[in-house]
Amino acid sequence: MALTNEQYDSIMREYDAIRNRNARITEEKQKKIYAKFPELAEWENKAVSLKIKKAMLLMEGANPSKLEELEDEATMLLVNRVALIESSGLSEEDFEPVYDCKDCKDTGYVYDSEGNRKKCHCFREREIEILYNQSGIRSLLKKENFSKLTYDFHSGEDLNKLRTAVEVCKKFIVNFDEEYSNLVLCGTVGTGKSFLSCCIAHDLLESYHSVIYLSSIALFDILAKKQFSSDFEEREESNKNLYECDLLIIDDLGTELTNSFVASALFGLINERHLRRKSTIISTNLDLPDIREKYSDRVLSRLTGSYTFLNLTGRDMRTLVK
Ligand SMILES: [Zn+2]
Repeated sequence: MALTNEQYDSIMREYDAIRNRNARITEEKQKKIYAKFPELAEWENKAVSLKIKKAMLLMEGANPSKLEELEDEATMLLVNRVALIESSGLSEEDFEPVYDCKDCKDTGYVYDSEGNRKKCHCFREREIEILYNQSGIRSLLKKENFSKLTYDFHSGEDLNKLRTAVEVCKKFIVNFDEEYSNLVLCGTVGTGKSFLSCCIAHDLLESYHSVIYLSSIALFDILAKKQFSSDFEEREESNKNLYECDLLIIDDLGTELTNSFVASALFGLINERHLRRKSTIISTNLDLPDIREKYSDRVLSRLTGSYTFLNLTGRDMRTLVK
């Protein structure tokens, strides 16, 4: 799915508004400091005009000792400035512009090491939010993250399994940028599969990764709609985010309507992500024989070959909470 022109323009307008707002905040912040310490502005302005004067004299071929004198004078002013800033409990940061995203300075675009202009992580996050209707995820993740984790509803072997799963999930997050890995969270309803997927989504979004979180019903709906587009390129373009986002979470695999399209679309998707070394998390009630029967041997073999299976057991936490 690509953004429509209208959606793209609306994101760019949002960036305009953010830049305007932050420019005002920056100005206010600096104004306050200069009102309190007027000598700071005076010294900064004077140092700038001394440097301009020096540059002009240099072009005219002035005497080197005169140039040095100007340079010393400007340096002295800047030394005074730094001393005053430090003694007033301020820091250089207090003078810097305010940004929502420091990486792209609220423009939505950054340059990679080869000088190519590309979308910033904050742009991709907005894009994904619009394209995959992810706006509800943010509020869900406020409730479902590691800070809300409780072991109170599990005991015995169930508790051990949960502890192991939490450990693996935390490692998955810590090693995310260095280590390509995938998870299948298995278990019956309410054992914490979706909760753990949310915990991972929460932490990775916080660290500026692109995450798409879809129920399997929504995912196959999207794939089916695109499938029948006759234009191959358009189809590939439309699936690009699903192939390339840093993390794809497929929640509740097995709840969608089964047909031959679903099995081949699932294989296509997880295989493509595997080839691109992009991590995927699947949560499901299905066990291995169910997976084979529903989605074929090649899906099962891809999952058992490159996914870590975490099995959760226990009573339904959701009914326990109610
Ligand atoms: Zn950015």
